[in-house]
Amino acid sequence: MTDFVDVILPIPLQKAFTYYITEAEATFLKPGMRVAVPFGKSKIYTALVYKTHKTPPTAYEAKTIHQILDEKPLVTEQQLQHWQWISSYYMCSLGEVMRAAMPNAFILESETIISRNETAEISDSELKDDEFLIYEALHHQSSLKIDDVISILDRKRVLPIINSLVEKGVVQLQEEIYQKYTPKLVRYVRLHSTFKSEVKLQELLEDLSRAKKQREVVLSLFQLEVRSKKPIKVSDLATHSGASSAIIKALIDKDILEEYHIQIDRVSFDEETTDDSKELNEFQTKALSEIKLQFSEKSVLLLHGVTSSGKTELYIKLIEEQLATGKQVLYLLPEIALTTQLVSRLQNYFGEKVAVFHSRYSGNERVEAWNNILNSSEKAQIIIGARSALLLPFQNLGFIIVDEEHEQSYKQFDPAPRYHARDAAIVLANMFGAKTLLGTATPSLETYYNASEGKYGLVELSQRYNDVLMPDIELVDLADKYKRKRMKGHFSDRLIEEMTEALVEGFQVILFQNRRGFSPIIECTTCGHSPQCPNCDVSLTYHQYRDQLRCHYCGYNSAMLKSCQACGNVTLDTKGFGTEQIEGEVKTLFPDNTVARMDLDTTRGKYGFEKLITRFEQKEIDILVGTQMLTKGLDFRYVKLVGILNADNLLNFPDFRAHERSYQLMAQVSGRAGRTDVRGKVLIQTYNPHHNILQQVSTNSYYDMYKEQLNDRFNYKYPPIFRLIKITLKHKDYNRVNLAADWYAKSLRQLFKAHVLGPEFPPVSRIRNQYHKNILIKIPQKQSLPKTKEAISKIHNSFMSIKDFRSVRVVINVDNY
Ligand code: ADP
Ligand code: ZN
Repeated sequence: MTDFVDVILPIPLQKAFTYYITEAEATFLKPGMRVAVPFGKSKIYTALVYKTHKTPPTAYEAKTIHQILDEKPLVTEQQLQHWQWISSYYMCSLGEVMRAAMPNAFILESETIISRNETAEISDSELKDDEFLIYEALHHQSSLKIDDVISILDRKRVLPIINSLVEKGVVQLQEEIYQKYTPKLVRYVRLHSTFKSEVKLQELLEDLSRAKKQREVVLSLFQLEVRSKKPIKVSDLATHSGASSAIIKALIDKDILEEYHIQIDRVSFDEETTDDSKELNEFQTKALSEIKLQFSEKSVLLLHGVTSSGKTELYIKLIEEQLATGKQVLYLLPEIALTTQLVSRLQNYFGEKVAVFHSRYSGNERVEAWNNILNSSEKAQIIIGARSALLLPFQNLGFIIVDEEHEQSYKQFDPAPRYHARDAAIVLANMFGAKTLLGTATPSLETYYNASEGKYGLVELSQRYNDVLMPDIELVDLADKYKRKRMKGHFSDRLIEEMTEALVEGFQVILFQNRRGFSPIIECTTCGHSPQCPNCDVSLTYHQYRDQLRCHYCGYNSAMLKSCQACGNVTLDTKGFGTEQIEGEVKTLFPDNTVARMDLDTTRGKYGFEKLITRFEQKEIDILVGTQMLTKGLDFRYVKLVGILNADNLLNFPDFRAHERSYQLMAQVSGRAGRTDVRGKVLIQTYNPHHNILQQVSTNSYYDMYKEQLNDRFNYKYPPIFRLIKITLKHKDYNRVNLAADWYAKSLRQLFKAHVLGPEFPPVSRIRNQYHKNILIKIPQKQSLPKTKEAISKIHNSFMSIKDFRSVRVVINVDNY
């Protein structure tokens, strides 16, 4: 009997791929270990062991694996099981889930070059036999590849040997493919050991009496050492002594100081002290015991608490209890950029136990977090992260918090796996027998529905902490204001009055506009032509700061036009407005106040967002203009007024969730006002002050909104009553996408009849020169989801076997958001 291993390759293959292995390898290999395997003509991939077995593949001759990369599994059994669920539920390949889950540094595709360390002096006796063989080979050849090492040693597990050679300083790796991860080293200094005695030190100081600065550095170091009894960082010495790095270097060169390195975690926190968590008020205490009670029966619970009701403090209590039992806690947030405030809040209580898994972190930082979690390290008891943190190697997960559960960024859009982190979190928690808490002030219809149906527990918290009143929300009728000439630019007299008052009282103001740039449309007033993106079916947005026209779909940009491309007249005008225009208007209206803008254009870079938040918190900014980014869970204490410049483009967005989303967005931005003692004020400018959603927002009537929207969803067969699968076909040829979509829809319709909608072009029907066409499948509650997907897969496979359609890209989005 021969042995085989099924592996997951980090590419979209429908099935696991099978390789031949030896009996010894079969005993050694465990699911979740990495192996390097040949695939296709000449590629080598890092793959994950899925399972070993004794059945040869039928369709192809199994190749042998190239080498084994791990000593023990890097991916846990639960992870594999969870990935499997994601892959089958969201209709994608396991490889795509693997890609999304593993830091790139773990999935290597190139080759390491091993070369001799010329400076090392090695005596043969230090080396084991295998090591010596490599060492010797490197005398004949300047470098070796892993492949060469494998053939020299005639074995596939060579990593430990190479590692050992690296440790002994015998060889160096040029392009480290195994671990692109390099630990971060911090430079430390100490006095050279020759000066340890009092006498020698005195002599040294005398010697240095003419090199004053150097003498000061030595004294500084001495003081620091006495005081802290810990290793002294070069950077600390520099700060403490005020010396330049050149002076320190001179001392190192003279062998007076000695430099050394200690490996540290890249993500570390300075604070070591931890506070006690806050004492809960009456409502919080009640909610907490209610939560615990319901958790004894239900594994998922919705905490519906108005903004600033103190939900986070409740989470903290629940986390404390979990930690006491020694279990890991996962804290999911919609966007990691928003963690700054939360992370420092949690660190105040839990110190080093908090680990952050940040999509903007470098590969190294992600590897560190992964390893800490895998090893149940003390440093990774509480893991905070955005949706992909869900895919980490938890060992003993006890509790998941999904904060702001209604946020749509929990759903991954592109590329696959197109999973919803909230839903996948619940599945993950169940695998561990853990509990999931969904928290928000504005639950998604899905979640509230599940809670009303008794599937989830429900705890409500309707009082703000400290009894601060919910903000007073006023609707401003734009039509009326324009008619009576009470507008300055896009600001009504009411908004200007309220802003003036808040600013005079020393409070801050937030202004919300859901578009970035200066204006979304440029139009010629003579002929009506407006410049379009050459690659997409959309108008170009004007960005004043760079005097550019830009496409928000593909990134295309060009200089702003001087005259109309169609008629040549110089009568170009802007239509509509974005954050940039509002910022400009604010500057003119309030020249004595500082204004800043928070949108995609101003928050690029690793710390772009954090810097802006800090400046606002520290009151360096009086007025902050921004997009959606402003809405999410930020806690600004000095904001008294929030202005929403135009509610209508939210409400009129062409999507069945537009009303629900508008409610959530406006309620959330409003929630940023008046978070401490004073009652906040919110002004919403609109042409439709009688719109139901606006009435519901202004009276804080979540439940009315829910009932009305649910009724619509019921009537029009949308979630949460029906499930949705959206299929998007993409091709650069307009005719082909039409033919393909018609074929696809027709096949679906034979099975699902009237529950198939489309094909239909979306509002922006061409993006990056690809035409898009959508088909929507509505699935009634009693129709089996697995069977539906199976049927879709079959149709999909027949579709793909048609030669003309092979080049059409098909995206399947389950539970489309
Ligand atoms: P939410 O998460 O519901 O928006 P937070 O937990 O951020 O609300 O609480 C709002 C504010 O009230 C925060 O500044 C928080 O520190 C404060 N707060 C909440 N609960 C307490 C408490 N029990 N004791 C002291 N301060 C609290
Ligand atoms: Zn474009």
